[in-house]
Amino acid sequence: MDFEAIETAARRQALALAARAIEQRLNADTSDHAGPSLDCECGQAARYAGRRMKIVQSILGELKLDRAYYHCLHCSSGFYPRDRHLGIEKTCFSPATVRMMGTVGSMVSFQEGSQLLGELAGIGMDASQVERGAEALGDEIASDERLHTGPLGEEPLPPTLYLGLDGTGIPMRAEDLAGRAGKQPDGSAKTREVKICAVWSAEARDSEGLPMRDEGSVSYSAAIESAATPDTAEHRSAFAERVLREASRRRFREAQRMVVVADGAPWVWNITQDLLPGAIQIVDRFHVKQTLHRTAQAIFGSTGQAKQWATARCTELDDGKLSAIVHALRPHAADCADAVRCRLYIHRNRHRMRYPKFHKQGLCSSSGVLEAGCKVAIGTRLKRSGMHWTLNGANSIIALRCCRLSGRFEDFWERRNDPIAA
Ligand SMILES: [Zn+2]
Repeated sequence: MDFEAIETAARRQALALAARAIEQRLNADTSDHAGPSLDCECGQAARYAGRRMKIVQSILGELKLDRAYYHCLHCSSGFYPRDRHLGIEKTCFSPATVRMMGTVGSMVSFQEGSQLLGELAGIGMDASQVERGAEALGDEIASDERLHTGPLGEEPLPPTLYLGLDGTGIPMRAEDLAGRAGKQPDGSAKTREVKICAVWSAEARDSEGLPMRDEGSVSYSAAIESAATPDTAEHRSAFAERVLREASRRRFREAQRMVVVADGAPWVWNITQDLLPGAIQIVDRFHVKQTLHRTAQAIFGSTGQAKQWATARCTELDDGKLSAIVHALRPHAADCADAVRCRLYIHRNRHRMRYPKFHKQGLCSSSGVLEAGCKVAIGTRLKRSGMHWTLNGANSIIALRCCRLSGRFEDFWERRNDPIAA
């Protein structure tokens, strides 16, 4: 007996049976015919023009649905009241199908997503359909994110909130890179930078009493967008607006202590200075140590000496001996550009690298949250080999991923499927 063949066939038949039942029930109900005319969005009256059929992809398979159609002569458009009601107005995918496309599209490649849908749910859908479905959902989420900036939840705030800013490059298609300067030998670019904003708390302590990120406290918002604002601009950059929205949702500015953790990029501190002037600024210690190791390699090559030198500098960093680091870099300034850059980096950010002081204040300075956040929210899905993103495609999948990882998908979904209540 081939049990697998039996259960698979039984599932297929059960789904088909359920699909027919739903089809019959919906098609027997003609209450969506609500009289000879209905109000059109243009303000005129749209006239009833009979029932029309549409094929909807549901998680039970195809459904052939008959719906009342209203046509407006004034603006030459028409609508189906039932489609609005069922949430299938501009799509031929049912809500549960859209949700599944979003789930797989946010987690794995569209090709793998198509395979998973087939194998796990018995839904036949090719990779480009998964791509379109997941990206359309991501677009909806991105618009919803811009609209809903009110505080989430009313729980008491932890005394200290952390806001991290970072950037990470993802591979792009040539047409979305045209004319952009990059790090390739010919000056062209292969990637564009996703800018990410994360908010979390760190009241928990590890076995040594050091602050640790609180489980489930981190939320993300990210996009490929500009953080640059010319001095004369009246408007904030798109990314600055994003940071403000995330801060508002997390009530960041109501915290007794606001901490901004980031690497040393100037745009980060411009935004911080501008939007969150009262925040304690910390350069993520993890980033500084990475820089020290990279610099050591630039000076000594990949040698034991490089490792030894970097380890000594990292200890000085932990001990707050920044001038010792600057001193150790000085002899290499003449013949190593990286040494010069590193010295400048330490010097410019010295007030953001007072780690012993931050430690005394019980602040988390080397969380790894940012690093992990970039990996989790962006890298694992968008930096896989062979991937080349369009700007719009990347931003929709990033929006979808951030929403799900921040535990906000169900709230969004409720608003989407009940627009009147929202
Ligand atoms: Zn009209």
